[in-house]
This record gives sequence, C-alpha cells and structure tokens, in this order.
Amino acid sequence: MAKEELECSFCGRKKPDTSLLIAGLDAHICDRCIEQAHGIVVEESKQEGALELSTEFKLRKPKSIKSFVDDYVIGQEYTKKVLSVAVYNHYKRLLQPKSDDDIEIQKSNIIMVGQTGTGKTLMAKTIAKMLNVPLAIVDATVLTEAGYVGEDVESILTRLLQAADYNLEKAQQGIVFIDEIDKIARKSDNPSITRDVSGEGVQQALLKLLEGTTVNVPPKGGRKHPDQKFIEVNTENILFIAGGAFDGIEKNITKRLNLQAVGYSASKSEDTIEQDNILKYIIPKDLKDFGLIPEIIGRLPVLTYMNPLDEETLRAILTEPKNSLIKQYTKLFEMDDIEFSVTDGALDYIVTKAIEYKLGARGLRSLCEAILTDAMFEMPEGKEKELKVTKAYAEKALDKSTIKKLKAVS
Ligand code: ADP
Repeated sequence: MAKEELECSFCGRKKPDTSLLIAGLDAHICDRCIEQAHGIVVEESKQEGALELSTEFKLRKPKSIKSFVDDYVIGQEYTKKVLSVAVYNHYKRLLQPKSDDDIEIQKSNIIMVGQTGTGKTLMAKTIAKMLNVPLAIVDATVLTEAGYVGEDVESILTRLLQAADYNLEKAQQGIVFIDEIDKIARKSDNPSITRDVSGEGVQQALLKLLEGTTVNVPPKGGRKHPDQKFIEVNTENILFIAGGAFDGIEKNITKRLNLQAVGYSASKSEDTIEQDNILKYIIPKDLKDFGLIPEIIGRLPVLTYMNPLDEETLRAILTEPKNSLIKQYTKLFEMDDIEFSVTDGALDYIVTKAIEYKLGARGLRSLCEAILTDAMFEMPEGKEKELKVTKAYAEKALDKSTIKKLKAVS
C-alpha cells in the first residue's frame, strides 16, 4: 500500500488529513479518534464509580424539589425546605462516586412531627412521585418484635419490594414512610408491662433497618408463606421518613423552654416564644423524653414539624393543589359534559364546617362528597348541563346528609 493511501480504520480519513496516524497490527487510528475514544473511556469510568440509579431518576436541586412539592402540598414551608435539602443530600450521597478521601456522607433520614392530617404522608408521597422511586407506607402500630402477634419489622421491606414490582435495585433506592412512630415510644411509666412488645423492642428492630443492613426479606410477607425463597435487601440507600403526632409533646417543649428561660430574663424569653405552634421549638431531646430511644433519634437526624391547618390553608387545599378536590370534581363532571363551578361563599362554608366538625383536611373530601352526591347521581342522565354550587346549595345538601351527625360526636 502506498504511503499516502494510509487511512484511519475508524473514521476513514486519509493520512494527509490527520495530524497523526498510529499503526496497530492490522489497523490505523488517527489523532481525533484517539481523543474521542479517550473521552468515552473517561465517561464510562465515571459512571462505574457512581451508583447507577434507575433510568427515570432525575435529581433536582433543592429549590426545584420544593417547587414540585408546592404544586401538591399547601403551606408547611419550613418542612418543605428541610425535606428538599435532606432529599437532595440523600440522593447526592447515592450518586457520589467512590472516592478515597474518607468523607462518607451519612444518611439523611427524616422525622416529621405534627398533628394527624397535616400532610406528612402527602409530603412523602409527593417526594416519591417526584423522584419516581417506590414508596412503602407502613404503620408503626402494627409492627411487633419477631415472634409476637403482628408484623415483623422486615415486612416493611416486603412492602417496598412490592411497591417496586420486585425490582430489587429500585427497592433499594426507595422511600419508606413510617407513620405513627410515636406509638412505639417506650412505655416506661407502665410498670405492669414486663415485656414491652410494641415499644422498645420494635425500636431496636427498626434501628437496624435505619442504620443500613442486609435483611433477608420474605417477598410475599412473613408468616403465611413459610416456604418462599428469601430476597436479600440492603437498606443502606433506602430513605426513611418517619412521622408522628406525638400527642402531648407540646407540654414537654413548653416546660423545657420555661426552664431555659430561668437564668435569663424570663419575661423577655416569653416574648420571643411564639405560641401559635409550640412544635416549631422541638429538639431531639423532646423526642427522647417522649420515649424514643436515643439510637433511633440519632438515625433520624433531620427533625422537622408540621403546622396545624388554619382556615386559610384548608381553603387553599380545596382549590390550589395540582389535583385539588375541586379540580377533581370539575373533571368528573366534565366527563359528562357538565359545567361545574363553586362560589367563594360555598368554599368558605365547606371550610367552616370542616373546622366545626373537627375533620381537618381529611374531612374536606367527605364534605364535598356529601354535598355533591345527589348531583353526581342525577345529572349524568339529566338535561341540565350546568352545576353551580353556592353556599345555599351546600347548606341544603349537607342538611340532608348524615355527615351532620358527626357534630354530635365531636
Ligand atoms: P398525615 O400523614 O399528616 O396524617 P395526610 O398527608 O395523610 O396527613 O393528609 C390527609 C389528607 O389531607 C391528604 O390526602 C391531603 O388531601 C390533605 N392534606 C393535608 N395536609 C395538606 C396540605 N398541607 N396540603 C394539601 N393537602 C393536604
């Protein structure tokens, strides 16, 4: 072969068009192709170092996480901020390539304290939706120590596997929301309990999961299927979010705040304590005094609180979230070509009733159902193609409904 006919075996460029052409056994490679190949090698090795997250997974920055959550959860600004940062850091930890600098980023498991119905579960659901990772919601009250009636702590991971369609890799990057964590607080003030089945023992079992461990998980759930093959699940990269109402913890916080005030100018410190939601002053010690063991608290390092829902927030919950109740009903009616609308007066009325019946945000749905059931029953086959719910309409509909009886209970 004449010298000037030599060409790159990869891109086909002739030797005179290259700066350099390196000969191999049976082939040649030009300078540009070497550079390109080098780039590919660098990219590949970077990816190998980082844990491969599910392909759909997209890490957003904290502000973008918060603005996603804003579309679904009303208010709770502080928790949203704290959660956005914790979630961001958690997934940064997962994406971090293995390095030799000994800086190991620890897990950012979260604990949310706040009354029931203030959006704790919704917050966890929204985060999971955003990250497109599987979510298991478990109730701590059903958990017991191995060998007792109830569910073993491992059942949490069975649920997560199920939520991930048994894709182990996905499950191992998922989120577990443990509700009512306050109900497994140590009941030390009850001497008659010789063995604290639902308390400290469960906390100890839970601790192992939070710490990061490998657990043999029965994929179909524990005791009913004794013959199944176990799946080994590593909890190291699972994000745990715990929630609880911690009824009565406000008293501990107030007591602590008052004690702290002694020694300083007491009156001054009382001024600065905002009374609207004492929970905002919560610190890990308050959880310990409530009965969580220090090790558990240590493994849930991100502590945050929820605000009670006031009238304004309830009103916003009705209309503002991306899938708000009113938007859902509008869509339902639309499918029957019915134009649905609600007046401000009616919305205010629904909120007043939710507060009066002490139903909180969960009650908004029952109230709407009670008000709209007749219309949803009659209108799809009727001639009328417009429904405007006014305060008078809502009052009349509620008057007929059984929900009114709740008043007597509350
Ligand atoms: P928790 O877990 O605190 O008991 P949930 O998250 O289950 O409360 O809330 C119950 C329902 O109330 C949710 O499905 C949601 O529709 C509504 N809700 C509660 N808080 C909010 C909020 N801050 N923003 C929007 N909806 C809310």
